[in-house]
Amino acid sequence: MTLEARKIRLIMELRRGGIVDTAVLAAIERIPRETFVPAPFQDQSYENRTLPIGCGQTLSQPGVVALMTQALRPNRLIKVLEVGTGSGYQASILSRLFRRVYTIERYRELLKTAESRFDQLRISNITTRVGDGNLGWSEQAPFQRIIVTAAATDIPGKLVDQLGEDGVMVVPLARPNREQEVVRLIRGPSGLQEEHLTTVRFVPLVRGLPRASAIKSA
Ligand code: SAH
Repeated sequence: MTLEARKIRLIMELRRGGIVDTAVLAAIERIPRETFVPAPFQDQSYENRTLPIGCGQTLSQPGVVALMTQALRPNRLIKVLEVGTGSGYQASILSRLFRRVYTIERYRELLKTAESRFDQLRISNITTRVGDGNLGWSEQAPFQRIIVTAAATDIPGKLVDQLGEDGVMVVPLARPNREQEVVRLIRGPSGLQEEHLTTVRFVPLVRGLPRASAIKSA
């Protein structure tokens, strides 16, 4: 089966799984996932599965990317903050659905590769930064939308502070004695409202930057 045929099969599977936002489906159709995964895995790009991306990190399955993106309530008039650039796939999807994407990654090496992919695909509305995403991006705050793509043990306070009025944050949480789950937080007049979206397995949201030795050996 060609990648193109597999992609169509995946899109149908996502629709059946409850992805109804046609802009989200169009973005998934348009962004070549094979560009974001290492060569040995490219033939699996349109399987609904998690794939390795280097530095011990993984790219979520398309179903989870689609669900989290849809839950974020995309809006072309506003900007979005992503924590955990990784391969750059999620950021590229967001780039088609938001005015501008600000994305933070702790591994410089992953970020460089992601940036070269944005160039290759001629995506010009993504701004990147190496750093600890737990701290958010204060110069650009507040954000109406924040998406975290690594599992936090609790909701990072700085990110909550940087979430604007009526803002939406989608974040995987790994709370003690519970299955990892993706939650959506909405900042309303009476504070933060939390909703369960799905159970998942994400790599952890880590504090601080990797040590130089850790980067070399990864
Ligand atoms: N959105 C990514 C998924 C990458 S996996 C994609 O589309 O490919 C999660 C990423 O979060 C990893 O690259 C990991 O290095 C990064 N990460 C983990 N903790 C972080 C932190 N505190 N700040 C920034 N990035 C972090």
